[in-house]
Amino acid sequence: MHQWLYADDVADGGADGYAEWQHGLVDSAYRQDSKGLAASNGIETLHRGCANEAEVFFEDVRVPKERLLGGRPGGGFKQAMSVLNDMRIANAARFVAAAELGFDLTVEFVRERKAFGQRILDFQNTQFVLASIKTEISDARAFVDQCLARTLDGTLTPTEASMAKLHASEMEFSVLDRCLQLHGGMGYAHEMPISQLWSRARADRIHTGSSEIQRVNIARGIG
Ligand SMILES: Cc1cc2nc3c(=O)[nH]c(=O)nc-3n(C[C@H](O)[C@H](O)[C@H](O)COP(=O)(O)OP(=O)(O)OC[C@H]3O[C@@H](n4cnc5c(N)ncnc54)[C@H](O)[C@@H]3O)c2cc1C
Repeated sequence: MHQWLYADDVADGGADGYAEWQHGLVDSAYRQDSKGLAASNGIETLHRGCANEAEVFFEDVRVPKERLLGGRPGGGFKQAMSVLNDMRIANAARFVAAAELGFDLTVEFVRERKAFGQRILDFQNTQFVLASIKTEISDARAFVDQCLARTLDGTLTPTEASMAKLHASEMEFSVLDRCLQLHGGMGYAHEMPISQLWSRARADRIHTGSSEIQRVNIARGIG
């Protein structure tokens, strides 16, 4: 079974973390000295140099009772779920910040770069794209700020956390894709911060629950 899962310290071929077990539920903590556990070298992902992914292999790994997360089979899933809302909101705030940074970098770039004798910023298309982007970021920021306030006063619902994660990550990728486009060919260069923001944003629609899973959560609340 292939599963992406949480693990610290996998880049050097070792792994300490949480095993996903039984229908993908997080249930046990394991250590890198556990018999039958092996990890590959890091997987090269689209976002090179930042994330820490590896394949982890389990062969008849035995987990002592005292390492069961949540104290009993199934308890680890409940424990993981208890922090998921906070993770989704914290991530949503990061996605908004990344979109804002991409916007600022793009405005800087199109002010400087010239084509056909004028600044890229002076094309009406550029102005309209930037106007749409600014509006979309402000919209997402207002919702995420509202969810952050509700997180602090303890009233945020799981549906709202899913809505914030879905909205912010989809907005982030869509915004950064248009920002990269406004950079032209240079935007595709790995050395440009916009390309790094873009490739990171692609992963943000997948981790901490993919956009599809957020929609499943939200739809469940609709009935
Ligand atoms: C860069 C990166 C960092 C990550 N970091 C972490 C981490 O720190 N900790 C951690 O635990 N995990 C982490 N993950 C794993 C991540 O949470 C999973 O990749 C994600 O939950 C999707 O699971 P999967 O890869 O098994 O895809 P699958 O479950 O195989 O899904 C494949 C596709 O099917 C869709 N799909 C699946 N189920 C449904 C459904 N019920 N309805 C509709 N569509 C569905 C998915 O949305 C996706 O599009 C990370 C992943 C990436 C890419």
